Amino acid sequence: MVELPYQRKPLARGKLIGRCTVSCISVLLSQFALSLIPRFFSASPLLIQVALSALVLLVFVVLGRWCRRLLGVHASAPAFVFFNVLFVWALYFAVIRRAVSLVMDIVFSGEVTMLIIGLCSIIASNPGLVTCGSSCANELVESLDAEVEAHNEVVETSASGLCHESLTKGSTLGRRIKYCRSCKAYIEGFDHHCPAFGNCIGQNNHALFMVLLAGFLATEASYVVCSSQFAAKSQIIDRTTLETSLSGNLAISTMLFSILQLMWQVVFMSWHIYCICFNIRTDEWINWKKYPEFQHVIESQPGQSFSKVRFRNPYDKGILENVKEFLALEEK
Ligand SMILES: [Zn+2]
Repeated sequence: MVELPYQRKPLARGKLIGRCTVSCISVLLSQFALSLIPRFFSASPLLIQVALSALVLLVFVVLGRWCRRLLGVHASAPAFVFFNVLFVWALYFAVIRRAVSLVMDIVFSGEVTMLIIGLCSIIASNPGLVTCGSSCANELVESLDAEVEAHNEVVETSASGLCHESLTKGSTLGRRIKYCRSCKAYIEGFDHHCPAFGNCIGQNNHALFMVLLAGFLATEASYVVCSSQFAAKSQIIDRTTLETSLSGNLAISTMLFSILQLMWQVVFMSWHIYCICFNIRTDEWINWKKYPEFQHVIESQPGQSFSKVRFRNPYDKGILENVKEFLALEEK
């Protein structure tokens, strides 16, 4: 078996438990802070309440960065996602479930279960770590290390002649190896490093990532339906209790939280569908000026002292072929 030359190093157990604890406390604090919005702004339109929720979350992000820089307190982003899912699920069981139909209950519980399985799978997945044998790997390291220093961010390599096995394996895509600074690893088909999942998104887990995104969208949409059913029934029975009790406030605030998540994830999903249709990776789109294959130099005309560089995508074979190629990735 070939040893992975750039395998991610797991955190020490103590550090991991510490970060998970910080994430758990952050989730509880942020969710209770969000519950203040329906308590004090219940008369405001839904859009205003969603905007205020976004503001509260922004304050938490800034506070989190401040704690990390000044106090050295680190949280784990995947644990934060995980605990948020668990918090919403627990609240659903304790408060919302009684107002939901049996079919909706089965659908939502099934979606959350699949989401947790998907989350664990993507966190543990190999995104496409370069594994082309020791001599080839050393050659790749030497070649790319110089470029890493030069760019100081992500680098791309043509990798031609570096590893015959991998070249033939990835011949349809060409080798689109990039360096991820977060993982300190070379990833084939690198799209981006996803802090929420604590892993790179590359050739091997891009499809899983898309399925998981769709899973998040479906689960959040179901939760909005369930919590609005709960709110509608509670308002008919006792409006004052819904607005003043902690459970009623949390039911509304988690609905606002899910609406917010839905909004940005629809944008994120649309972006990824666009990338698949035009066979471009997120990192390539952002950093195309670093990668020669995406640069089309237009020679200067007589009388002009400069030449222009325009973007071109050599991998774009038309939408149908691009989608076919993406779907075939997992089979390689
Ligand atoms: Zn990474």
